[in-house]
Amino acid sequence: MRSVYIHIPFCENICSYCDFCKMYYQKKWVIPYLNALQKEILNRYHGEKIETLYIGGGSPSCLTKEELERLFKIINKFRKSSKVEFTFECNVENITEEKLKLLYKYGVNRLSIGVQTFHKKYLKFLQRNHRKEDVYGIINLAKKVGFSNINVDFMYAFPHQKIEDVETDIRLFLELDVPHISMYSLILEPHTKLYINGTKEIGEDLDASMYEKICLLLKKYGYEHYEVSNFCKKGYASLHNLTYWNNEHYYGFGLGASGYIASMRYQNTRSLHNYIKGNYVLYQSILSKKDIVEHEWMLGFRKIKGISKKNFYSKYHKHMNDYYAISKLIKEGKLQENQKQIYINPQYIYVMNEILIGLLKESEHEND
Ligand code: SF4
Repeated sequence: MRSVYIHIPFCENICSYCDFCKMYYQKKWVIPYLNALQKEILNRYHGEKIETLYIGGGSPSCLTKEELERLFKIINKFRKSSKVEFTFECNVENITEEKLKLLYKYGVNRLSIGVQTFHKKYLKFLQRNHRKEDVYGIINLAKKVGFSNINVDFMYAFPHQKIEDVETDIRLFLELDVPHISMYSLILEPHTKLYINGTKEIGEDLDASMYEKICLLLKKYGYEHYEVSNFCKKGYASLHNLTYWNNEHYYGFGLGASGYIASMRYQNTRSLHNYIKGNYVLYQSILSKKDIVEHEWMLGFRKIKGISKKNFYSKYHKHMNDYYAISKLIKEGKLQENQKQIYINPQYIYVMNEILIGLLKESEHEND
């Protein structure tokens, strides 16, 4: 599968928790940026058929209608599969009916909308300027325009937040009647406003209880938990994100974007100045087989179904056990297996990173 991620870094407002590659929208930079993006695509793209396209940011929906038209004309150069999944990230503050119609016209068939929470005080804390009513309004409008494949992004684990607050968010989410939700715990990344202000994370126990509640409620209402932070109605898993979790190849175009082509992973510059001058790449590295398998392992176990034994063997011509002592984790009950798959025991999903990193380190010592 070939996938394409395109990054639009502009935002009208900067959120207090944001660690993404973004900058304030300034009209004078948009066309030079899109021109540079076009050149980067022409340089790197080899005409492969594209199965998933994802325009993220930043806030791509803050572009004007004319700027969006220019972006879509660039994107039209990709050779797309007839079943392409084409996602566009929308910010409730600047998506309009006119823009939604334009997205639809250019073949976007999946929307990802940043909601984060319905609680006024937490929206203020996150420095998001929308209201609950705006979210309902935009989603109804999107459905009217013709979109049915819609994701909403939510967050939890805000300071002083109670489990009941998270429950309210989930109940209000259910009223939206959309088939996909991503639920991320608030992480205080260095250089964000929250971090600089000295905000403290909630305790791990409360975080874990909130996560458990979220999983239980969503499952109860028919959402399949298919990745650590992602839940969907049957048939609505994000094919684009599955490319990442399946450790498959993808192009990343735009400021700060990263890509994985053949055995090379690359990361683009975060400097607008350099990007516009055509110095796109910040670094690139050729991965060893060991690195590739490590990625397969760390990404693959994010999926609740885990890693397919058959796929693993056909990719690497070895069994997972030949690389890592997974039987130990199976014995300890942290990993489970059936005939086809090896997966994290659902009871350990919350601490899976520690488990997997521990095993990788152990294997390194054994191989020293
Ligand atoms: S809208 Fe998204 S990218 Fe922009 S500042 Fe907020 S979180 Fe960051």
